[in-house]
Amino acid sequence: MKIFENFDLKAYNSYHVHATCKRAFMPQTENDFVDIYRNYPTDSEKIILGGGYNVILSKAFYENDFILIGETFSAIDFQDNGLIEAESGLDLKALSELALENSLTGVEIFYDIPSSLGGAVVMNAGAGGEDIKDVLLKVRFLDLQDLQIKEMLKEQMDFEYRNSYFQRNKENIILKAWLQLRKGDPVLIKTKMEETKAARWAKQPKDLPNAGSVFKRPKGHYVGPMIEGLGLKGFAVGGAKISEKHAGFIVNFNNATGEDILKLIHDVKERVWDKFGVELEIEQRII
Ligand SMILES: Cc1cc2nc3c(=O)[nH]c(=O)nc-3n(C[C@H](O)[C@H](O)[C@H](O)COP(=O)(O)OP(=O)(O)OC[C@H]3O[C@@H](n4cnc5c(N)ncnc54)[C@H](O)[C@@H]3O)c2cc1C
Repeated sequence: MKIFENFDLKAYNSYHVHATCKRAFMPQTENDFVDIYRNYPTDSEKIILGGGYNVILSKAFYENDFILIGETFSAIDFQDNGLIEAESGLDLKALSELALENSLTGVEIFYDIPSSLGGAVVMNAGAGGEDIKDVLLKVRFLDLQDLQIKEMLKEQMDFEYRNSYFQRNKENIILKAWLQLRKGDPVLIKTKMEETKAARWAKQPKDLPNAGSVFKRPKGHYVGPMIEGLGLKGFAVGGAKISEKHAGFIVNFNNATGEDILKLIHDVKERVWDKFGVELEIEQRII
């Protein structure tokens, strides 16, 4: 396992906010996770990051330890019948490409949703009516209350739109997941991957650091048009602004701090409430 002191988190959050943590762990085995909690106890809770594609780092310095689950914990095992067993740091773009190579369908949308496998389960990530829950079978996790490794079936996870058991119960770290993909036509799989990506790139800001949609979609409304209707495209606080390309995104255009992003969110929420009477719920996780 790799351990770092005073670790710079800029490359580990997709807003590219500058933040440092006192200590960071990069576990390589399941035992490393247990070891971190047994042998490195701290008063403050330890913070878990997968790809860091859906988080707002609100502080410039964290006393907390960070556990970075990424490429050091991303082994994958494919079976002929489309059953996949993978560690939670697996990058889902890489998974979608491997699935294509093996003529397996079910994860095409993750070609352009940046995510680790564990982060996708926590967030129930997805797009266009397809979510990770659709292909998930089972999860293996470390229960931080008794430091035991346990397993849970998809049916027990109470998935909702961008929400899951593991988002509501933070005392668990996802270690592994099993997915069931189906055999498909590689031409159709590739077409779906490319078309989904092209449609998303036409709409979303890809030139500036961001963390995807800021807010969950409220029933009966679309976030982007509401914010655009308020004339807020380009509206900035410090180095963070509402994207001119898609009003549902905040982009870091000039060394934004987590505080800039949170102030901007606060202002937008207030204005949307005043004009439309809609309470926006933040999708991104504030850390
Ligand atoms: C350009 C862009 C486009 C996006 N488009 C979409 C989209 O279309 N649909 C969509 O759903 N999302 C989208 N997102 C958001 C993001 O891709 C997803 O939320 C993704 O699943 C986050 O995964 P992650 O590994 O980066 O999680 P992180 O951001 O690292 O973490 C998210 C939360 O999960 C927790 N967590 C992470 N890993 C674990 C683990 N192993 N065990 C326990 N807790 C864990 C973290 O503590 C945090 O609370 C987009 C983001 C970007 C930057």
